Amino acid sequence: MKNNRRNFISKLSLGIATIPALSLASCAQETPVETAPKKALPVIITTWDAGIVANEAALANLKSGGTSLDAVEAGVMPAEADAANQYVGIGGKPDRDGYVTLDACIMDWEGNAGSVCFVQDILHPISVARRVMEKTPHVMLVGTGARQFAIEEGFETTDLLTEQSKKDWDEWRKTSEYKPVINTENHDTIGMLAIDEKGNISGACTTSGMAFKMHGRVGDSPIIGAGLFVDNEVGGAVATGLGEAVLRTLTSFLTVEFMRNGMSPKDACKAALERLAAKHKNFKDFQVGIIALDKNGNSGGYALQGGFTFALAEDGKNEMFEAESLI
Ligand code: ASP
Repeated sequence: MKNNRRNFISKLSLGIATIPALSLASCAQETPVETAPKKALPVIITTWDAGIVANEAALANLKSGGTSLDAVEAGVMPAEADAANQYVGIGGKPDRDGYVTLDACIMDWEGNAGSVCFVQDILHPISVARRVMEKTPHVMLVGTGARQFAIEEGFETTDLLTEQSKKDWDEWRKTSEYKPVINTENHDTIGMLAIDEKGNISGACTTSGMAFKMHGRVGDSPIIGAGLFVDNEVGGAVATGLGEAVLRTLTSFLTVEFMRNGMSPKDACKAALERLAAKHKNFKDFQVGIIALDKNGNSGGYALQGGFTFALAEDGKNEMFEAESLI
């Protein structure tokens, strides 16, 4: 009975909300639309296979009294510190000149954001991104400035190039002719969204970017609106995959805006990917995956191609899912 009433109210508000959308065709709606009933909170969703461990770390943080911001930072840190993970933090594959350069960003429910790009020798760029957010008047710090800030904040320097990644770089140099290659293989990111019991959403995104990229290349992951976006009135989204394509279409921001206009998280991810595909003739040659979480704890993901997985922690479970895909 209660549920019926809630559905009825949802339908009613959907009807009202579409009126300004029709009359102000191109204006974004200010009022988020209820899309589905509320889930039990917290809910955490994270990209790729490392997501299970990440979700556990985030849940443990929440249990010990952390906010969703604390949880997403703590959640992605194990992947940054895992030398066997060759796409995030230490052990990340280097650029074509042999340097491991990291990108990360973080955003909270109040719209605060921090980001570091092209930072070297720092084990936890996500924590530096948080310090940028909390301790500076800026949103982004880059390269030597980001490294210098981290050191001033007490972060130690660490050699991030592991034996294995150096070996892979040596192999790559034998055949690559020093040309970065766009494919579905040579990159990954850990991106996490969490909503805590208070209904506050935060997100984190951290990566070593595309393997063997040009020195100085920055992808989507540290760019607010591209790799990550959170608007607590609506929800959040995180992207992974070919950063250049995500940057051109501001995929995370777009996903959140689609949710604002009434789409479910999964449908919003799909619609953002349809836009991305429409703008890239070669969209069959690369991968992009998106995950999204709305303010009621509903979540979903979608990908350009098959094989994109994410981990979802809700209702006392922490499970892997493979996203549906456009291709
Ligand atoms: N989006 C990241 C980048 O382009 C890599 C990835 O997620 O696969 O740097």
